Amino acid sequence: MVQAFLIKYAEIGIKGKNRYLFENTLVRQITRALREVDGEFRVSKEMGRIYVHMDGEYDYDGAVEALQTVFGISGICPVVIVENIELDNVKKELVSYVKQNYPEGKEYTFKVFARRPNKKYPLDSMELNATLGEAVLYGCPWMKVDVHHPDAILTVEVRDLVYIYSVEIPGPGGMPVGSNGSAMLLLSGGIDSPVAGYMISKRGVQLDAVYFHAPPYTSERAKQKVVDLAKIVSRYSGQIRLHVVNFTDIQLAIYEKCPHEELTIIMRRYMMRIAEKFAERDGSLALITGESIGQVASQTAQSLLCTNAVCTLPVYRPLIGFDKQEIVDVSVKIGSYDTSILPFEDCCTIFVAKHPVTHPILKVIERSEHKLDDVIDALVQEAVDTAETIIVE
Ligand code: ATP
Ligand code: MG
Repeated sequence: MVQAFLIKYAEIGIKGKNRYLFENTLVRQITRALREVDGEFRVSKEMGRIYVHMDGEYDYDGAVEALQTVFGISGICPVVIVENIELDNVKKELVSYVKQNYPEGKEYTFKVFARRPNKKYPLDSMELNATLGEAVLYGCPWMKVDVHHPDAILTVEVRDLVYIYSVEIPGPGGMPVGSNGSAMLLLSGGIDSPVAGYMISKRGVQLDAVYFHAPPYTSERAKQKVVDLAKIVSRYSGQIRLHVVNFTDIQLAIYEKCPHEELTIIMRRYMMRIAEKFAERDGSLALITGESIGQVASQTAQSLLCTNAVCTLPVYRPLIGFDKQEIVDVSVKIGSYDTSILPFEDCCTIFVAKHPVTHPILKVIERSEHKLDDVIDALVQEAVDTAETIIVE
């Protein structure tokens, strides 16, 4: 029976003190991910490796699935632990491991890869390879040796106990969340922004989010959809503070005073400005959007220039060079697609002009915004003050 998972992680760039922080963050995230899974799990750091130990019955598939949401994990190896480390017993356990994982009926090739961190063990690794390989050939005659391209690398690690594994289930890669500060995601109900959040979170960035709605023009269900999307992203990123901002009065003011073809751009600029206020409050180091060059009128190169001009924080736009289909593929993979395509109105679509500018000029946009001077500061302040914060996990 599998009694532990050996957790593999990419080690590039995590030398010295960074390594220790990286590992501790990873341990914390693994513990969090396994909280909801049936079973007793103990996460430990031993001699530069991370193990998850299971005591008694547990949900194997649930555990693997949970570990596959933890950024920083490159591979998950299910391990069988042998307590009686006498050679004859290790041989017996290895043969039964092979029978279970590579059952008779198909021919498999293998090699034994033994390691002996326990230097007191009477055989060295070369001797172990030979002896254990022989035991497998004898006990499982359908297995053939191939030292170059084997189907199975039977890894046998001799420590105080003996660890056997041969399978590495891929993890999500990336860096553990919490190892790279936090950022504020502009989360709408669309396909793109949840994917953008996922991608930045994958680099170890903790997420908070802001959603702009426009009641009564947008419904409670549209808001619930965004909460649901935040929940899906939080499976990977951990807890998200979602700030729900009432944007109605700002949108109406823009609609009333500014040229209609500039509406979307001006609106986007106010979203960025307000998102920065929440970023400052939450200690975020950047904003994140789901923008991609040329996807819609508000994302042409000129439009992005105008939107970006109001930002002082860096804006992470991980989808900037993605085609729509590439974004859809990620959204299917992470499980947000089905929720994203639910047909609820979005606050951007209600006030959109028939012919929005596609080549806005910054000076012109800024001039139009001056028409809001009398009212806008108070409206922005009110939007910030009345925002509802939902803790999503
Ligand atoms: P998405 O699919 O994420 O909704 P989109 O293709 O609809 O993106 P836009 O509406 O132009 O594109 O928005 C671009 C980006 O601006 C979004 O990816 C998101 O980061 C942010 N954004 C748009 N609308 C909102 C909103 N109502 N609340 C919060 N952020 C928003
Ligand atoms: Mg949108």
